[in-house]
Amino acid sequence: MKYNCDLHVHTSFSFDGERAENPLKTADEAYKKGFEYIALTDHLDVNSEIEHLYAPIDLDTRKYECLKAKDELKGKITVLHGIELGQMTQYPKQSEKYLEKYDFDFVLGSLHNVKNMPDFALIDYKNYTPDDYITLWCVYLDELYELAKFDGINSLSHLTYPLRYYKKNGFSLDLSKYEDKLCKILDCIIKKGVYLEVNSSGFRQGMDAPLPDDTVLSMYFNLGGRMITVGSDSHTPSDIGADFEALEKYIKYGFTVFNPN
Ligand SMILES: [Zn+2]
Ligand SMILES: [Zn+2]
Repeated sequence: MKYNCDLHVHTSFSFDGERAENPLKTADEAYKKGFEYIALTDHLDVNSEIEHLYAPIDLDTRKYECLKAKDELKGKITVLHGIELGQMTQYPKQSEKYLEKYDFDFVLGSLHNVKNMPDFALIDYKNYTPDDYITLWCVYLDELYELAKFDGINSLSHLTYPLRYYKKNGFSLDLSKYEDKLCKILDCIIKKGVYLEVNSSGFRQGMDAPLPDDTVLSMYFNLGGRMITVGSDSHTPSDIGADFEALEKYIKYGFTVFNPN
C-alpha cells in the first residue's frame, strides 16, 4: 500500500455516523486493512454545538474511547485522537476552548457551511442560477481564508467541498478563474505549516476526482506547497482507505505525504 495512513475517519460519535463503528472497532478495521496510522476525526461543528443543528457530540466519552483504542492497539496501529473541527471562525473563542480542553493529536479544519447558510449538503439548489452558485462559492472561499488563518489546525480538509454538491445538482465551475482567492488560502497554509488534505471521497461521490483536484493541487505545488495528508472521509469501516490507489495520479512526485515513519 502506497499510503500507510488514513487521516480522515469518522466513528459512531459523528452525528452522521449511523453506519460507523466505535473507535476501537474502526481502528482495528484500519489495522486489518494494513494501515499503520489512523486519525479518528469525528465532526465537531462548532456552530452546531452552539446553535443545536445536529445531535451534540460527547467529547469526553469519545476521548476515553479513542485513548482506549490507542492503548489496546499499541504495536499494531497508531491511533490518533483527532477531530474534524468545522466552522470554527464562526465561534472562535469556543473553538479555542475545545482545542485547549481536549488536546487533540490531529485537527482537520473544515467549512461545511458559510455563516447564516445551511451545510452545502443541505441547500436546496432548485432555483439556483449560475450567478447564485458563483456568488456562494466566492463567499465560501472568503470564509475559508479566515478559517485557514485560524491557529490550531493541522490540515485543511476537502478544500472544494461545495463542488461535491454543485456537481450533484448539475453545476460545475472553472477553478482557474478563482486562482487569486485559492492562492490566498493556499499561501496562508503554506506559511503556517498546515498540510493540505487530499480527500478521496470525491471518487465515491460522483466527482471522479479527489477534493481538491489537479487544478488546485498544481496551484499549491507552484506556490511551494509540498505537505499533503490523505483521508478517505469514511463514515463506515469498509470505506477506510477507499480509492487511495486512485490518488496516486494526483499526488505526484514532489509532494510529501504525511507519513509517521
Ligand atoms: Zn467534512
Ligand atoms: Zn469528514
